[in-house]
Amino acid sequence: MSHTTESNSVDNASGFESLPLRSEILAAAEALGYSTMTPVQSQSLPTLIEGRDLIAQAKTGSGKTAAFAISLLNRLDESQYHTQALIVCPTRELAEQVAEEIRRLARGIPNVKTLTLCGGRPMGPQLASLKRAPHIVVGTPGRLLKHLEKQTLKINRVETLVLDEADRMLGMGFIEDIDDIDDYLPTTRQTLLFSATYPDEIAQLSASFQTDPVDIRIESETLNAQIKETFYKVDRVDRLQVILRLLALHKPESTLIFCNQKHQCEQLKDDLWDEKLHASALHGDMEQYERDRTLIQFSNKSSSILVATDVAARGLDINELDLVINFELSADPEVHIHRVGRTGRAGRTGTAASLVMGSEENRLAAINNYRGTAHASVSADTLPAWGQFKLYPPMVTLSIGGGKRDKLRPGDILGALTASKEIEGIAIGKITVLDKITYVAITQECAKKALSLLNDGKIKGKRYQARRLR
Ligand code: ADP
Ligand code: MG
Repeated sequence: MSHTTESNSVDNASGFESLPLRSEILAAAEALGYSTMTPVQSQSLPTLIEGRDLIAQAKTGSGKTAAFAISLLNRLDESQYHTQALIVCPTRELAEQVAEEIRRLARGIPNVKTLTLCGGRPMGPQLASLKRAPHIVVGTPGRLLKHLEKQTLKINRVETLVLDEADRMLGMGFIEDIDDIDDYLPTTRQTLLFSATYPDEIAQLSASFQTDPVDIRIESETLNAQIKETFYKVDRVDRLQVILRLLALHKPESTLIFCNQKHQCEQLKDDLWDEKLHASALHGDMEQYERDRTLIQFSNKSSSILVATDVAARGLDINELDLVINFELSADPEVHIHRVGRTGRAGRTGTAASLVMGSEENRLAAINNYRGTAHASVSADTLPAWGQFKLYPPMVTLSIGGGKRDKLRPGDILGALTASKEIEGIAIGKITVLDKITYVAITQECAKKALSLLNDGKIKGKRYQARRLR
């Protein structure tokens, strides 16, 4: 028998200390400011800790990662150098976010090794890292299989398998890879399946991979009252104009625009550049480094508009979105709800605007039908003219030609920029240090000065090339 917990069950607002967890994990959760458990955490962790299988559905941003991370870390024996937990994710960005969250929660436990193994990355460093088996592996299906086939990765003693964003993996056609990965896993293990939606295929996946799972469903994503949603009637040829007028109306700092197809993302991005707007596209055909750079520019507020496909945007932990625009409606109401749910997070208000061509009215009807709403598409004539409106991102991203391999840390960059006191710390935004490159956000006003400080000076006694990203 599996137990289903409905969304409206009482959320016991307690902290992690109510659970039998290692003190290092409790301390890490506290240091991260996780004072109360989210609903998916409080409902799943007691059974997770017992070692049972679990299938959980909860919306994006509900804290699913920490739920499984805490459980698998609690089970981990760091003195044993074999791979004890395997997390399979649909995309590299998700895998990296998951690995980061695990590392943050594992901070107090000495010598826990967490490795990401994803496609689009060179094999060499991965092979080197695998010389000593990592305790925890997070990866994408194809690359994991490659290592399993080469026998560079051994998962025959894994205790916990996590399939994260399982619906997305099915949608991307990873089912066969996952089946193949399963052949390398021990049959006795804990299997956790996380999914934001619950199509039939998920039930099938669960049936073939899990044993008597506990079933938890937290509020299928319904419309958040904090989100103001409007549907605008448009003709195909007017869509760009309507988007510009929406930007003029809302003056958003960060906007996510969804397209159904990759080529539309590229086209719309180019059209927005032609209007002197800083827009970036995010979709599956991009090189990994481009995706990294795009996400960094968007999240550090040096790009105002991200034009993405559902797959590319899915699960990304982007907060503080003012506006979500649907360039086209999705044919799947559930997908629509996900898109719209990207704004209005964490108690903030959000705005969602959808363009509806005559041929898409049936999609709007399906959305209304699915969530029991009664939205009608309205004329876009009331929107202000685009006119002279300008939308500049507040920040600029500078890239520095050195990274973790050069032992650079965010503090080194901050130091290099602020040492002469010409730039104040407050003008500096997010600093992201990758392997060979570092990105630093800086206010528009200070960008020029920062660039000359970086190019004329040294960081940790060494010269690095810095340039301004477009
Ligand atoms: P999901 O996988 O459900 O989409 P994530 O695991 O990515 O969501 O979590 C979303 C955000 O919530 C992350 O930034 C994470 O740090 C934060 N978070 C997770 N658990 C807690 C908690 N108990 N209290 C506060 N913030 C939390
Ligand atoms: Mg997640």
